[in-house]
Amino acid sequence: MISLKDAVNFHGHLGPYLILGLLAGDLGLKKTGAKKYFGVEVKVYGANIKPKSCLIDGLQLSTGATYGKGNIKKYASDRIKISMRNPENKKVVTLGLTGSLLRELNSLKGHSASEKFARELLKLNKQKIFTLK
Ligand SMILES: [Zn+2]
Repeated sequence: MISLKDAVNFHGHLGPYLILGLLAGDLGLKKTGAKKYFGVEVKVYGANIKPKSCLIDGLQLSTGATYGKGNIKKYASDRIKISMRNPENKKVVTLGLTGSLLRELNSLKGHSASEKFARELLKLNKQKIFTLK
């Protein structure tokens, strides 16, 4: 996984959605066996507006799928969902956010609370963060 420092240098600040993108991308690569950079296709739903769109930078960093290569795409939706596909073995995994995580995200107030929660996310069990399909 990319270091937190490198991710923040790229994105410009530390926030929970950046971390969620990093974690989701790592998990999706593992679950599909997809190869970083060229061997993965990523679809992101419901992350069109800041801060939710910060998710997309985290996903680009963790999966290596980028807008430059055209293997990540975003779609409007009222719910965040990340779909990752391995074009070699056709495996697809879809990640959502758990209800308890959504409640915590929605209750965050202010920059420092968001930053603190972003760091906590790194230590949380992935099952408490993502739903898997
Ligand atoms: Zn951000």
